[in-house]
Parts: sequence; structure tokens; C-alpha cells
Amino acid sequence: MTDLNLWFDPSKCLINGEWVAPVGGRVLPLMDPSTGEQIGEIARGGADDVDAAVAAARAAYEGEWGRTPAAIRGRMLLKLRDLVLERVEDLARIEAMDVGKPLKQARADAIALARYCEFYGGAADKLHGETIPYLDGYTVYTLREPHGVTGHIVPWNYPMQIIGRSVGAALATGNACVLKPAEDACLTALAFADLAKAAGFPDGALNVVPGLGSEAGAALSGHPGIDHISFTGSVATGIQVQLAAAHNVVPVTLELGGKSPQVVFGDADIAAALPFLVNAGVQNAGQTCSASSRILVHRSIHDEVLAKMAERYGALRVGPAMADLDVGPLISAKQRGIVSGFLDLGHDLETAAQGLLQDAPAGGNYVQPTLFAGVRPDHVLARDEIFGPVQVVIPFDDEDEAIAIANGTDYGLVASVWTRDGARQMRMAKRIRTGQVFINNYGAGGGVELPFGGRGKSGHGREKGFEAMYGFTTLKTVAAFHG
Ligand code: NAD
Repeated sequence: MTDLNLWFDPSKCLINGEWVAPVGGRVLPLMDPSTGEQIGEIARGGADDVDAAVAAARAAYEGEWGRTPAAIRGRMLLKLRDLVLERVEDLARIEAMDVGKPLKQARADAIALARYCEFYGGAADKLHGETIPYLDGYTVYTLREPHGVTGHIVPWNYPMQIIGRSVGAALATGNACVLKPAEDACLTALAFADLAKAAGFPDGALNVVPGLGSEAGAALSGHPGIDHISFTGSVATGIQVQLAAAHNVVPVTLELGGKSPQVVFGDADIAAALPFLVNAGVQNAGQTCSASSRILVHRSIHDEVLAKMAERYGALRVGPAMADLDVGPLISAKQRGIVSGFLDLGHDLETAAQGLLQDAPAGGNYVQPTLFAGVRPDHVLARDEIFGPVQVVIPFDDEDEAIAIANGTDYGLVASVWTRDGARQMRMAKRIRTGQVFINNYGAGGGVELPFGGRGKSGHGREKGFEAMYGFTTLKTVAAFHG
């Protein structure tokens, strides 16, 4: 069994500042996606543990944590930033083993987590209400107040980044948090909470209950003691979470899936676009909500772009996370089954190119990155989120057709436009129905400052940036009559 060298016990939950075994002492297997082997055990928390975590968060919110001034909360987050930075290599190694992502990507996630702590640490005391001119004799102002106890349900694909943006903003604004990490990847959530304890966050300010979605996740999303839920994951689960929260009339932020297009016009700088066209599809083995799985190319340059993308695909090397190649394994055997099923559905398409496995253990969850050409916009591979390293190239003839295809799925998360024509850039940015549009780039390096969220079935609400500070607070209007 691989030695993970953990400094905490992953078979426990962190509740009220204490490491405690789940009620009933249940565990789940901890699997290494690179080998398919079990490398440990994690806590299988359930409804009782969620109850305890929510009670601890409530007590913290009503107590010391709720009275902690914004500037002090910010300093705690900055201290947490320092502790995360000290542990970057440990966090990267743990995440690579747990999620299967190549080490350099896991390291980038750990650094992003530190940067979220830094951003929200600095922002904590910058949020304020307004005064509103009103009738003679009144003074009216607004207060931005925390919701109270916030629930955070996160997926396995970018645990550190999603925890950073969600929990970071919630703590900065004074909420007490209950975090339910994914059953396939909970180690860095526990590590982060342990570092938060060391950074001085009082008991109960951040609680972590690992476990199954159907148990701990469902208990959290329907819990009457929760005041706000931040959910990141699939559309199907997002709907269940929102329905459960609706019974308690609790606001929900949903960050869901995508089928994000990159639109390449005939006047694009192809050399500049190429790395983005491919990387945005295969990064994290395509298991990215904002993965660019559709490449729309103007017919005048279609064959050239396809050939150059195919060349890059041919050079992609796929292997174990710790070998730090271009692409790692998928998270689980289940996910490999789903992606393989989609690849089978592409049997009527032209396979333009595939990446190669390199020293990939037989038991690992590997698939070959695959680029399909000649794809109709209504093909299932051009419409459904695959969540694997699979991209389709779709030709188009003019701007209207490009817009129709780009907006032609249920999703609306991210899009990019590659063109040198400034007027076209502006027209496309207006007409594309997504939460983010990138012009002559893809993802803008993922900056923590940039608000992020979806339209359509990609969800609603915004996280990241200062915008998230509004989402994690509620507005109170105070109208004083003094004559
Ligand atoms: P998922 O919905 O299966 O799981 C996400 C989380 O929800 C996990 O923690 C899981 O345990 C929990 N969960 C499952 N069932 C639940 C239930 N009934 N009640 C409450 N919680 C439950 O998603 P996944 O497979 O882990 O992640 C992949 C999906 O997440 C993709 O669709 C991807 O696009 C999306 N995603 C979106 C973003 C974004 O920012 N928009 C970011 C990352 C991932």
C-alpha cells in the first residue's frame, strides 16, 4: 500500500475543531486512480455527523466567530495563505495521488488555493453597505451581513480551487462553514481544514464531513440549520440539491457543467490559438467544468486547424499522476466507463487523432485523448458533457451560424472567440450566451479575481472575485426616522 504521509487521519471528520470518527465508525475505500489500487480509507460521514457539524457551525456563528471583526477574519485568511504555501508540495502530492492529476497541475491548484486565501483575506474588510438618500427626516443605510451557516458541496475534479473560491469567500464574509468534499477526493479538504485550525480559525468556523453524496451530501443540502448552499457538481445533483434546499427556502449557488465552445474565425492567429484549443480540452483529462469540448472552425481554415490540432494530440502522453505527463487517468473506473461509452458513440465520426498511453498501469483509469472531426452540431458528442479528454471539431460558414452552434446546447458556462476583428469580438461577446467570454485566449489563466458562473443548465450565481462576497452575504436595509 502506498504511503501517503498524511499529517491528519482521513478516516475522521473535522467537527468543532476536533478530529472525530463518523458516528458508527464507517469508512470508504481511498483509491489511487493511477493504479486502481486501494491506498487507504476515508470517513463515511452521514446525517448524524452533518447534524453535529451544523450545530458546531451554528455555535461558532452565534459565538466567538460571529463577533470576529472583518479585518481579523482577513488576517486569519492571510495566515492560512502562508500555511498553504508552506505545504504546497505536500498538498500537490496528496492531490495527485487522490485525484490522478499530473503533479504540476496539482501544484498549480495548491498555489491557486493560497491565492484565494490571499484575495479573500485582503477583501474581508473591503465589503460595505451604502447610504441611500431618502425622505427628509430619515437616514437610510444598508448592511452586508453573513448568511450564517453555509453548506459547501464540492466535486472531485478541482477540490482545492473550488474549496478556495467557495469556503474562502464564505469565511471572509463571516459565515461558519460545513464542507462536504467528494467521496472520490476528500484529502485536500481535510488538509485545508487542519491548516485553517492552525491559522487560528476558532472551533466550528470550518467543519468537514467527508462521505457519499446520497448520505452526507443529501443530509447537508436538506438540513434546516443551513442558511445558504454553494454546490459545484453535475446538473442532476444540482437539481436535487436545489429541491432539497427549497424546502427550507434557502438560497443556492449552482456551479454545474458545460459544453464550452471555442470559435475560431478565418482571420485568427492560429499559432496563438493552438495551445489553448487543445489544452482547454485535455487539461485535467478533460474533467473540467469549463473544458472546451467543442472547437468551431471557419471553413476557410478548417483543414489547417484540424491538422495542427491532430499533430498536438499525437504528441500527448498519458500516464500516472506522479510521472507528471500531459494527461493523467480519469478519477474512477466508473468515469472511465462513462467516457469510453461516449467514445463508442463516436464510431460514425472521423477520429482525427489520439494521445498515447505511456507506462500506464493496467489497473489505472486511463483513456486515450481523442479528437473527432467532421462532427454535426446535433451529434451527441457535440451536445452532451463528456467530462473526459474528448473534443469535437465543427466547421461553420459565418458569424450567425457560429452563434447558433455556440448557443445550441443546454449549457452556458464559457466560450472563447479567436479573431483579429475588433468589431466582431464585441458582437460575439454580446451574442454568446455564457457566463464568461474570452477573446483571443481561453480562461485568462483562471485568475481568482474574475467572477465565474453559468447560464442555462450551467447554473446560477457567481463565485470567485469580489462578486462572491455579495453572494455569501445578505443585505439588510436600515431606515431611521429622526425627524
Ligand atoms: P456530482 O454531482 O456527482 O458530485 C458533486 C458533489 O455532490 C460530490 O461531493 C457528491 O458527493 C455530492 N452529491 C452527490 N449526490 C448528492 C445528493 N443527492 N445530494 C447532495 N450532494 C450530492 O458531480 P461530480 O461527478 O463530482 O463532478 C462533475 C460535475 O461537476 C460535472 O458536471 C462538472 O461540469 C461539474 N463541475 C462544475 C464546476 C463549475 O464551476 N461550474 C466545477 C467543477 C465541476
